[in-house]
Amino acid sequence: MHCSRIRTALSARLDGEEAPPGVTPGGLAAHLADCRDCRQWEARARVLTAHLDRTEDDPAAVDALLAGLRSVSAEPAPVRPGAVDTDGGRAG
Ligand SMILES: [Zn+2]
Repeated sequence: MHCSRIRTALSARLDGEEAPPGVTPGGLAAHLADCRDCRQWEARARVLTAHLDRTEDDPAAVDALLAGLRSVSAEPAPVRPGAVDTDGGRAG
């Protein structure tokens, strides 16, 4: 299953909406177990959603948050040869 489809479903779930047709909770869980990019995306989306709940009266803040989310969801990050896994701040 494509990451973009998974992320659409994750976003819908965070918003309390129905998942898109063809995306099951089991399918989501299986993909997340297998795809670190989508796990990170979901973690970020959760944070942004929490912020949105607090900033819904502030359109500029919402715009900024959504812009940040879009920049993450557009494409999976390119894999650089020799890149090492040094991203700190790993949750859990
Ligand atoms: Zn994925």
